[in-house]
Amino acid sequence: MVKILVINAGSSSVKFQLYNYPSQVVCKGLCERLFVDGKFTLEINDKKIKLDVPMNSHKEAIQVILDNFKKHNIIKDYNEIKIIGHRVVQGGSVYKESTLIDESVILKLEELSKLAPLHNPGAVNVMKIFAKLCPESKSVAVFDTSFHQTMPEKNFIYPVPYSWYEDHQVRRYGMHGTSSRYIVKKIRSELNLKEGNIINCHLGNGASITAIKNWKGYNTSMGLTPLAGIMMGTRSGDIDPAILEYVSKITKKDVFELTNILNKESGLLGVSGISSDMRDIIAAVEKGNKRAIVALDIYISKIVNYISMYQNDLENKTEAIVFTAGIGENASLIREMVIEKLHIIDVTIDKAKNNQRISEMTKISTDNSQVDVYVIPTDEEIMIAQDAYNIINK
Ligand code: ADP
Repeated sequence: MVKILVINAGSSSVKFQLYNYPSQVVCKGLCERLFVDGKFTLEINDKKIKLDVPMNSHKEAIQVILDNFKKHNIIKDYNEIKIIGHRVVQGGSVYKESTLIDESVILKLEELSKLAPLHNPGAVNVMKIFAKLCPESKSVAVFDTSFHQTMPEKNFIYPVPYSWYEDHQVRRYGMHGTSSRYIVKKIRSELNLKEGNIINCHLGNGASITAIKNWKGYNTSMGLTPLAGIMMGTRSGDIDPAILEYVSKITKKDVFELTNILNKESGLLGVSGISSDMRDIIAAVEKGNKRAIVALDIYISKIVNYISMYQNDLENKTEAIVFTAGIGENASLIREMVIEKLHIIDVTIDKAKNNQRISEMTKISTDNSQVDVYVIPTDEEIMIAQDAYNIINK
């Protein structure tokens, strides 16, 4: 068995999961509110430890993680961690697969940071810190974008001047690819699909829909950045781009401030004015809150429209619709509403199956449904650990 640490570093948080690979998850947790006050959570053997620890840099966060590993006898020495798998949001067109991290990769990722300024710099920073703190470990980068690199040009070139693509790499990249890869792997091991045509609805706080054709990424709702596509917790998803100029003129806010609002103050939160959390939205809808009802209606309609579009992209040959991530796995009401409003495909849901608590791959459609609908709990961390192990032991 080998200790593999999976790291998902953002601009103000670091999530981690430690494996005794291949058999078990040893512990997991996160450092959040970096640069603000600092909160540390560690889950080990069904115990949840929560600490307030000031963390004013990624380095301090990593130090807190490793110190707590030692304190709770998870490791005795940092170098027991042999392999580190890093989630990287943006791999550009360069990384079509996961890769061993060396100095040249770090340089390339720093270049790619301009495409994902909110996401990549944290990951790169953390890679450098681990290289110093755990010099005997080997690291692998696993990209959210890799799965979508098989998209045809018509699905990734934007209808803007072509030079934006050639000179500035403006194109659709898509995110949540590691989740889609997990879903593909799971379905391939459990079902006997003829074509491998799947529509994957990854509905978390960040959310995207992906059309998978012949087991490969064919189209996806996120774009150059995770802001595009369906409505999310705090992100707008697709909007008329000219809204920015219009609102900027009136409010005197510049493009940076407005983009920040589209990322952090829009979506479910922006429309409802209540919360970005789907549980709060559903509770408010049940109480008859009008803006929560509008927010939920928009949310459902965006998902339904993307599924309909992708059904066409897949030439009416979709074999499975999958719901995954926080909302997809837990919110039976959302699944039911989506299926109910999906008129383009003749799917019927088995309400009893849909309403049960789901912790493993479950079919929630009836047997006479035109397309099968599944709930599949995603596991991006195990994909990262597997990739890291396979690349190091190649
Ligand atoms: P991310 O990884 O993008 O931060 P998650 O996949 O953890 O997000 O999903 C978070 C979302 O899942 C939140 O909107 C939360 O409200 C929703 N969620 C979790 N459990 C439930 C539930 N039982 N019912 C409805 N929504 C839920």
